[in-house]
Amino acid sequence: MTLDAIVVGAGPNGLAAAITLARAGLSVRVYEAESTIGGGMRSAALTEPGYVHDVCSTVHSLALVSPFFKTLPLAEHGVEFTHPIAPFAHPLDDRTSVMVHRSVDETAAGLRGSDGAAYRSLVAPFVEHADALMEALLGPPGLRHPLLMARFGRHAIRSLEGLANHFGDDRTRAMLAGVAAHSMVPLDMLATAGYGLGLLIAAHAVGWPVARGGSQQLANALAAYFESLGGEIATNERIQSLDQLPASRAVLCDVTPRQFLRIAGAKARGLYARRLRRYRYGPGVFKMDWALSAPVPWRAKECKDAGTLHLGGTLGEISAGERDAWEGRHAERPYVLAVQPSCFDSSRAPAGRHTLWAYCHVPHGSTVDMTDRIERQIERFAPGFRDCVMARSVRFPADMERHNENLIGGDIGGGAGDLVQFFGRPVFSFRPYATAIDNVYLCSSSTPPGVGVHGMCGHYAARAALRASLR
Ligand SMILES: Cc1cc2nc3c(=O)[nH]c(=O)nc-3n(C[C@H](O)[C@H](O)[C@H](O)COP(=O)(O)OP(=O)(O)OC[C@H]3O[C@@H](n4cnc5c(N)ncnc54)[C@H](O)[C@@H]3O)c2cc1C
Repeated sequence: MTLDAIVVGAGPNGLAAAITLARAGLSVRVYEAESTIGGGMRSAALTEPGYVHDVCSTVHSLALVSPFFKTLPLAEHGVEFTHPIAPFAHPLDDRTSVMVHRSVDETAAGLRGSDGAAYRSLVAPFVEHADALMEALLGPPGLRHPLLMARFGRHAIRSLEGLANHFGDDRTRAMLAGVAAHSMVPLDMLATAGYGLGLLIAAHAVGWPVARGGSQQLANALAAYFESLGGEIATNERIQSLDQLPASRAVLCDVTPRQFLRIAGAKARGLYARRLRRYRYGPGVFKMDWALSAPVPWRAKECKDAGTLHLGGTLGEISAGERDAWEGRHAERPYVLAVQPSCFDSSRAPAGRHTLWAYCHVPHGSTVDMTDRIERQIERFAPGFRDCVMARSVRFPADMERHNENLIGGDIGGGAGDLVQFFGRPVFSFRPYATAIDNVYLCSSSTPPGVGVHGMCGHYAARAALRASLR
């Protein structure tokens, strides 16, 4: 019997596409290259038995704001999001930190001078309309909620450095740089303010939680729900060519453009293939995980309440480090993104023990060992950290790519997220999910709306397939 649809890849977008199609009553099979489903949502005992580490994604704010995930019975399939007291903290060299709380007012109260009022008037109106804003941001470029988006776009289109100039205190500017640097784009480039604002609004609207038991629980729940709809998943099936797939009415590929060109082979030709070949990948990550004998001994004590820590000091330092990674240099004091899940989820480590997850941005495909530089950045804000380390796992960009072939050169975003590729993802098109091959679609984070565990790329790609190929 001919299948209605095949999905290549069981990451959040592949699974979201598969669920959208199965919900429409279609027969769907997912082929996954690895032995475990989940792509960027997998967890593993990377250090020692008894410790659960998220190999890739760990903070699931985007899953909570995702209009598609909101419609899924994730809790029924075992997903529980567990929240830290505060979404994130930005420790500084003066032994203090800037805390971003769930409450806008509490966050504003911690900022100095007129920055509190300025922060409140910038962020609060968008937090009030967070559902509508996220619906517009987590979709293909279009005209959803035009007035709200016009107001947001006025700030979002700016560089983070430009936006930060409206704040008088260096501490506020540092905090803004820390949150915008998730983008992996230099902070003097257009639209980096938008990344920072989007993540701040999500922090206030829904929080920055982790999944109890590890991100794998989210992957397992998506797969279980898909299978409950009659879907099939085949693991250990690396698709090398579209020709090896059984007959189906549509194929959706949760892969990035470079892999797609390989899998499509001679079928990908003409202008579309030429444009896809020009798709750019961004910096990579150097990823570390630790098993710890105690919680991280933050010098600013309140940091123990935060789920995520942005370690990099001032805006100037973070900005220079991000530009370094973008231009092929290794920062001596890199911006380090750290998460301490075991402080809020006791299932991550044996009683009394802890885990820490962190990465820094490095040039695409870097082979430089950043272990010492990352640990020095942690020690800078938590002296005595190294004394707590019982075991560590170190992953170079090439290790990340071996773990998941979508992580090309260690790029976790499915391609550079600068302004051009924010709108032209994977190419400028009114039909960004369609490829030049009939009934074959791209559905990974290389399509709109891009990076993150939200499933919206897969959901919209499936809707495009339903409209054009599966009527
Ligand atoms: C270190 C790191 C930290 C991150 N942190 C966060 C975070 O905290 N929060 C967040 O929201 N996001 C985070 N992300 C980003 C997030 O993981 C990705 O944006 C998301 O997983 C992309 O989903 P996807 O479905 O497009 O692709 P992926 O999750 O990469 O899944 C692609 C799947 O396709 C499979 N595949 C590829 N090629 C083939 C083939 N030829 N045949 C069969 N199968 C194939 C892969 O094995 C993989 O399972 C992080 C990513 C990394 C790497």
